[in-house]
Amino acid sequence: MKSPSPKILVVEDEPKILTGIVDALELQGFEVVSTTRGDEALTLALIQNPDLVVLDIMLPKLSGLDVCQNLRKSGVKAPIIFLTAKGGESDRVAGLELGADDYMTKPFSIKELIARINAHLRRRNIDALEAMAPATTNTGLQKIKFLTVDFDARACWLHDEPLHLSEKEFSILKILVENLGKVVSRYTLLKEVWGYTNLDLETRTVDVTIGKLRQKIEKDVTNPEIIKTKRGSGYIIEGPY
Ligand code: CA
Repeated sequence: MKSPSPKILVVEDEPKILTGIVDALELQGFEVVSTTRGDEALTLALIQNPDLVVLDIMLPKLSGLDVCQNLRKSGVKAPIIFLTAKGGESDRVAGLELGADDYMTKPFSIKELIARINAHLRRRNIDALEAMAPATTNTGLQKIKFLTVDFDARACWLHDEPLHLSEKEFSILKILVENLGKVVSRYTLLKEVWGYTNLDLETRTVDVTIGKLRQKIEKDVTNPEIIKTKRGSGYIIEGPY
Protein backbone atom coordinates (compact mmCIF):
# COMPACT_ATOMS: atom_id res chain seq x y z
CA MET A 1 0.00 0.00 0.00
CA LYS A 2 1.28 3.43 -0.89
CA SER A 3 1.68 5.62 2.17
CA PRO A 4 -0.18 8.94 1.96
CA SER A 5 1.78 12.01 0.90
CA PRO A 6 3.01 14.17 3.76
CA LYS A 7 0.72 17.16 4.31
CA ILE A 8 2.33 20.59 4.52
CA LEU A 9 0.59 23.72 5.80
CA VAL A 10 1.99 26.90 4.24
CA VAL A 11 1.19 30.28 5.80
CA GLU A 12 2.34 33.32 3.81
CA ASP A 13 0.51 36.58 3.11
CA GLU A 14 2.49 37.47 -0.02
CA PRO A 15 0.44 35.84 -2.81
CA LYS A 16 3.39 35.45 -5.21
CA ILE A 17 5.63 33.76 -2.65
CA LEU A 18 2.73 31.60 -1.45
CA THR A 19 1.95 30.39 -4.97
CA GLY A 20 5.65 29.70 -5.63
CA ILE A 21 5.98 27.55 -2.52
CA VAL A 22 2.66 25.73 -2.99
CA ASP A 23 3.39 24.90 -6.65
CA ALA A 24 6.90 23.65 -5.87
CA LEU A 25 5.69 21.48 -2.99
CA GLU A 26 2.85 19.99 -5.00
CA LEU A 27 5.29 19.21 -7.77
CA GLN A 28 7.31 17.24 -5.20
CA GLY A 29 4.22 15.20 -4.41
CA PHE A 30 3.31 16.83 -1.10
CA GLU A 31 -0.29 17.47 -0.18
CA VAL A 32 -0.49 21.20 0.50
CA VAL A 33 -2.94 23.33 2.45
CA SER A 34 -2.33 27.04 2.56
CA THR A 35 -3.57 30.35 3.89
CA THR A 36 -2.53 33.99 3.84
CA ARG A 37 -3.84 34.58 7.38
CA GLY A 38 -2.41 33.76 10.79
CA ASP A 39 -5.76 33.24 12.49
CA GLU A 40 -6.84 30.84 9.76
CA ALA A 41 -3.55 28.95 10.13
CA LEU A 42 -4.50 27.88 13.65
CA THR A 43 -7.87 26.53 12.59
CA LEU A 44 -6.38 24.79 9.55
CA ALA A 45 -3.62 23.17 11.63
CA LEU A 46 -6.16 21.75 14.07
CA ILE A 47 -8.53 20.48 11.37
CA GLN A 48 -5.99 19.28 8.80
CA ASN A 49 -3.33 17.90 11.16
CA PRO A 50 -0.35 18.73 8.86
CA ASP A 51 2.96 16.85 9.06
CA LEU A 52 4.90 20.11 8.85
CA VAL A 53 4.19 23.86 8.88
CA VAL A 54 5.95 26.54 6.82
CA LEU A 55 5.18 29.81 8.56
CA ASP A 56 5.95 33.38 7.54
CA ILE A 57 6.73 35.63 10.54
CA MET A 58 5.54 38.92 9.05
CA LEU A 59 1.79 38.41 8.76
CA PRO A 60 -0.89 41.06 9.24
CA LYS A 61 -2.85 40.89 12.52
CA LEU A 62 -1.72 37.60 14.08
CA SER A 63 2.05 37.31 13.44
CA GLY A 64 3.87 34.07 12.73
CA LEU A 65 5.36 34.18 16.22
CA ASP A 66 1.86 34.30 17.76
CA VAL A 67 0.71 31.51 15.46
CA CYS A 68 3.70 29.36 16.48
CA GLN A 69 3.08 29.90 20.17
CA ASN A 70 -0.62 29.10 19.80
CA LEU A 71 0.08 25.97 17.75
CA ARG A 72 2.40 24.62 20.43
CA LYS A 73 -0.08 25.56 23.17
CA SER A 74 -2.79 23.67 21.28
CA GLY A 75 -0.59 20.59 21.23
CA VAL A 76 0.40 20.73 17.55
CA LYS A 77 3.74 18.91 17.43
CA ALA A 78 4.46 19.12 13.68
CA PRO A 79 7.84 20.68 12.86
CA ILE A 80 7.59 24.40 12.10
CA ILE A 81 9.90 26.14 9.63
CA PHE A 82 9.84 29.92 9.88
CA LEU A 83 10.28 32.28 6.95
CA THR A 84 11.99 35.43 8.17
CA ALA A 85 13.08 38.70 6.64
CA LYS A 86 16.76 39.41 6.15
CA GLY A 87 18.28 40.81 9.34
CA GLY A 88 15.44 39.51 11.51
CA GLU A 89 17.85 37.88 13.95
CA SER A 90 15.68 38.64 17.01
CA ASP A 91 12.65 37.13 15.21
CA ARG A 92 14.60 33.96 14.48
CA VAL A 93 15.73 33.55 18.08
CA ALA A 94 12.22 34.35 19.37
CA GLY A 95 10.80 31.82 16.91
CA LEU A 96 13.11 29.05 18.03
CA GLU A 97 12.31 29.86 21.64
CA LEU A 98 8.58 29.67 20.96
CA GLY A 99 8.94 26.14 19.66
CA ALA A 100 9.83 26.48 15.99
CA ASP A 101 12.28 23.92 14.65
CA ASP A 102 14.02 25.82 11.90
CA TYR A 103 14.02 29.01 9.88
CA MET A 104 14.83 30.23 6.41
CA THR A 105 15.80 33.79 5.58
CA LYS A 106 14.11 35.46 2.60
CA PRO A 107 14.95 35.36 -0.22
CA PHE A 108 15.57 31.61 0.00
CA SER A 109 15.99 28.90 -2.57
CA ILE A 110 12.94 26.70 -2.93
CA LYS A 111 15.27 23.69 -3.35
CA GLU A 112 16.79 24.40 0.03
CA LEU A 113 13.33 24.72 1.61
CA ILE A 114 12.34 21.35 0.16
CA ALA A 115 15.59 19.78 1.40
CA ARG A 116 14.90 21.05 4.90
CA ILE A 117 11.26 19.90 4.81
CA ASN A 118 12.43 16.43 3.80
CA ALA A 119 15.07 16.43 6.54
CA HIS A 120 12.50 17.32 9.21
CA LEU A 121 10.01 14.73 7.96
CA ARG A 122 12.73 12.05 7.89
CA ARG A 123 13.77 12.92 11.44
CA ARG A 124 10.15 12.72 12.54
CA ASN A 125 9.69 9.29 10.98
CA ILE A 126 12.80 7.97 12.70
CA ASP A 127 11.53 9.28 16.04
CA ALA A 128 8.13 7.64 15.45
CA LEU A 129 9.76 4.32 14.61
CA GLU A 130 11.99 4.52 17.66
CA ALA A 131 8.97 5.25 19.82
CA MET A 132 7.21 2.12 18.49
CA ALA A 133 10.19 -0.20 18.69
CA PRO A 134 10.81 -2.09 21.93
CA ALA A 135 13.73 -0.67 23.89
CA THR A 136 16.68 -2.82 22.96
CA THR A 137 19.43 -0.53 24.22
CA ASN A 138 18.43 0.27 27.74
CA THR A 139 20.70 3.09 28.80
CA GLY A 140 18.36 3.48 31.76
CA LEU A 141 18.86 6.21 34.28
CA GLN A 142 21.86 8.49 33.95
CA LYS A 143 23.02 10.94 36.56
CA ILE A 144 25.11 13.89 35.44
CA LYS A 145 25.91 16.07 38.43
CA PHE A 146 22.55 17.44 39.65
CA LEU A 147 20.72 16.23 36.54
CA THR A 148 19.01 12.82 36.24
CA VAL A 149 17.86 11.58 32.84
CA ASP A 150 15.77 8.55 31.93
CA PHE A 151 16.54 8.06 28.25
CA ASP A 152 13.97 5.30 27.79
CA ALA A 153 11.11 7.30 29.24
CA ARG A 154 12.49 10.58 27.80
CA ALA A 155 12.15 12.15 31.22
CA CYS A 156 14.46 14.43 33.13
CA TRP A 157 14.87 15.76 36.67
CA LEU A 158 16.91 18.66 37.98
CA HIS A 159 17.74 18.37 41.71
CA ASP A 160 14.99 15.69 41.74
CA GLU A 161 12.39 18.13 40.37
CA PRO A 162 10.78 17.11 37.04
CA LEU A 163 12.14 19.21 34.18
CA HIS A 164 10.50 19.65 30.79
CA LEU A 165 12.85 19.48 27.81
CA SER A 166 11.81 19.95 24.20
CA GLU A 167 12.32 17.08 21.79
CA LYS A 168 15.42 18.72 20.31
CA GLU A 169 16.89 19.59 23.70
CA PHE A 170 16.40 16.03 24.86
CA SER A 171 17.98 14.60 21.71
CA ILE A 172 21.03 16.83 22.09
CA LEU A 173 21.45 15.75 25.70
CA LYS A 174 21.17 12.10 24.70
CA ILE A 175 23.83 12.36 22.00
CA LEU A 176 26.22 14.18 24.32
CA VAL A 177 25.73 11.56 27.04
CA GLU A 178 26.20 8.73 24.54
CA ASN A 179 29.51 10.38 23.64
CA LEU A 180 30.54 11.12 27.22
CA GLY A 181 34.03 12.60 27.35
CA LYS A 182 34.11 13.20 23.61
CA VAL A 183 33.57 16.47 21.75
CA VAL A 184 30.48 16.33 19.52
CA SER A 185 30.64 18.76 16.60
CA ARG A 186 27.83 21.13 15.66
CA TYR A 187 27.62 19.36 12.32
CA THR A 188 27.09 15.99 14.01
CA LEU A 189 24.31 17.52 16.11
CA LEU A 190 22.71 19.14 13.05
CA LYS A 191 22.79 15.79 11.30
CA GLU A 192 21.63 13.61 14.20
CA VAL A 193 19.08 15.93 15.82
CA TRP A 194 17.77 17.90 12.85
CA GLY A 195 18.44 15.35 10.14
CA TYR A 196 20.42 17.76 7.98
CA THR A 197 22.85 16.28 5.53
CA ASN A 198 23.91 19.50 3.85
CA LEU A 199 26.93 20.58 5.89
CA ASP A 200 26.97 24.10 4.45
CA LEU A 201 23.95 25.04 6.54
CA GLU A 202 24.24 27.51 9.37
CA THR A 203 25.03 25.99 12.73
CA ARG A 204 23.47 28.80 14.74
CA THR A 205 20.36 26.65 15.23
CA VAL A 206 22.47 24.27 17.33
CA ASP A 207 23.88 27.09 19.45
CA VAL A 208 20.41 28.55 20.10
CA THR A 209 19.04 25.18 21.22
CA ILE A 210 22.10 24.48 23.40
CA GLY A 211 21.56 27.96 24.90
CA LYS A 212 17.97 27.10 25.80
CA LEU A 213 19.00 23.74 27.22
CA ARG A 214 21.66 25.41 29.36
CA GLN A 215 19.13 27.88 30.72
CA LYS A 216 17.14 24.93 31.96
CA ILE A 217 19.92 22.77 33.40
CA GLU A 218 22.88 24.99 34.30
CA LYS A 219 23.19 27.01 37.51
CA ASP A 220 25.23 29.65 35.68
CA VAL A 221 24.89 29.71 31.91
CA THR A 222 28.02 31.84 31.57
CA ASN A 223 30.01 29.10 33.32
CA PRO A 224 28.28 25.83 32.45
CA GLU A 225 29.10 22.76 34.54
CA ILE A 226 27.35 20.13 32.43
CA ILE A 227 27.51 21.03 28.74
CA LYS A 228 30.83 22.66 27.95
CA THR A 229 31.77 24.45 24.75
CA LYS A 230 34.95 23.43 22.95
CA ARG A 231 35.67 26.56 20.99
CA GLY A 232 35.67 25.96 17.27
CA SER A 233 34.86 22.28 17.53
CA GLY A 234 31.60 21.64 19.37
CA TYR A 235 30.13 20.59 22.72
CA ILE A 236 31.06 18.04 25.37
CA ILE A 237 29.76 16.53 28.57
CA GLU A 238 33.01 15.57 30.21
CA GLY A 239 32.07 12.88 32.73
CA PRO A 240 32.20 10.23 33.97
CA TYR A 241 30.04 11.08 36.93
CA1 CA B 1 4.82 38.38 5.00
